[in-house]
Amino acid sequence: MQEYDVVVIGAGPGGYVAAIRCAQLGLKTACIESWINEQGKPALGGTCLNVGCIPSKALLDSSHHYVHIKHAASEHGINVSGVTMDVNRMIARKQKIVSMLTLGIAGLFRKNKIEWLKGHGRLLADRQIEITPNDEEGETSTVSARHIIIATGSVPATIPPAQVDQDKIVDSTGALAFNQAPRTLGIIGAGVIGLELGSVWNRLGSEVVILEALDDFLPAVDRQIADDAWKTLQKQGLDIRLGARVTGTGTNQQVIIKYADKDGSHQITVDKLIVAVGRKPNTSGLGADTIGLEMDERGFIVVDDHCQTSLEDVYAVGDVVRGPMLAHKASEEGVAVAERIAGLPGHMNYAAIPWVVYTWPEIAWVGKTEQQLKQEGIEFRTGVFPFAASGRARAMGDTGGMVKIIGDAETDKILGVHIIGPNASELISEAVIAMEFDSSTEDMARTIHAHPTLAEALHEAALAVDKRPIHI
Ligand code: FAD
Ligand code: AMP
Repeated sequence: MQEYDVVVIGAGPGGYVAAIRCAQLGLKTACIESWINEQGKPALGGTCLNVGCIPSKALLDSSHHYVHIKHAASEHGINVSGVTMDVNRMIARKQKIVSMLTLGIAGLFRKNKIEWLKGHGRLLADRQIEITPNDEEGETSTVSARHIIIATGSVPATIPPAQVDQDKIVDSTGALAFNQAPRTLGIIGAGVIGLELGSVWNRLGSEVVILEALDDFLPAVDRQIADDAWKTLQKQGLDIRLGARVTGTGTNQQVIIKYADKDGSHQITVDKLIVAVGRKPNTSGLGADTIGLEMDERGFIVVDDHCQTSLEDVYAVGDVVRGPMLAHKASEEGVAVAERIAGLPGHMNYAAIPWVVYTWPEIAWVGKTEQQLKQEGIEFRTGVFPFAASGRARAMGDTGGMVKIIGDAETDKILGVHIIGPNASELISEAVIAMEFDSSTEDMARTIHAHPTLAEALHEAALAVDKRPIHI
């Protein structure tokens, strides 16, 4: 039987990064992955690279260019006419990017001498793992490991009133592969995925209705930023209905959606429906129960602060454990676990994980929101700077949104940074670094920012905490 120092199960951003870090640290490492891609070929990269972060951003970028050329180019003096969208070409481009990146992971595995064991991994006793190959002809094999890292990720959650058929009623994977923009599109769930996919197809001409059971819009986001996002997205044409719980669906040529809100029961008809009601941990066929791995009531593998499971030398990272379902969270947990296995002090700072919603403007934040701090009874000061007052944002013609910084009233330590605006996904990194280094708002206010840049809005918001912004 083949023996390894570490066997990783799952090659998404949690698993493949853990495997690379293990190999860098001199550990003999294998990674089991069962993913079969659209071309019927085994592929690494997990949800993120195949049907998540990367393909969704490819479509968001393509559709953003389209809208920009159609509606904003003329303001720059660029006259274009007859602009059309070739959806099939856009999808083919997305697929090419996915192929390139997933093949890239295979290259990284070769470079780091990580063995890719193709097939489905099932945990057995004594840290042995059975691998069932994807094709029926292949033979089942068993490997043994001194340490196991489970990184089996998550799958789309489903709800009984809307059964996914990947034709008329699709999940996020189906919604990344439409071959034309549906004339009318329903989406269940106004979470990150619902808003991003809604934005893509709305930009390409679909009439989009998003039904969200909760009464609040983006409840995890700072209220001031969420309110701004609400207005902007509505203006872009997303018809988001809050307090609207979907109770049933039916399909004929179209999809009939029944939903209930405070005014009673309603029915709408759409060409396609995306079910985007969240994701659930994936432990299917993993054998977790047979070896006594502790799970919680929602199906997550129970781990401590260092991603150690209830079993010795068995770790779990990423979407299959508690915490935000984000690719970078999964990867950094993978790094921390690899380092701990190698005897190093691997560590995760859960208080400084950035979040991004890739609508346009983008929404990004790190740390606590104003509503959280009020609930916790922590005194704070805030500083806000609108992009409308930023020279760079003006030059770009992208003046929507703001930066908001929250500092501790007593110590001035940065407690949260919230951005809605152009390139918020990039800008948030400065705030993450600042929080990692326990910076004060004064530190940020005294840091020289290049001019003219969007990042100056962070500088000005920091100055605004102390009521001394220069440009407002
Ligand atoms: P996954 O990426 O889900 O990978 C798990 C892997 O394990 C899979 O490849 C699976 O085949 C394999 N596997 C499972 N069980 C077994 C087994 N028993 N044997 C062998 N292999 C197995 N996050 C962000 O941070 N930014 C974004 O912009 C973003 N956009 C997203 C957009 C969409 C549409 C979706 C769906 C998700 C998005 N996410 C985003 C979330 C992100 O994709 C996940 O948080 C991330 O992929 C989790 O990584 P993971 O390694 O834990 O699991
Ligand atoms: P997220 O988990 O961020 O991807 O968001 C999923 C969203 O779907 C949540 O905001 C849920 O409230 C919402 N949701 C779940 N079930 C329903 C339903 N039956 N009708 C409408 N919205 C729902």
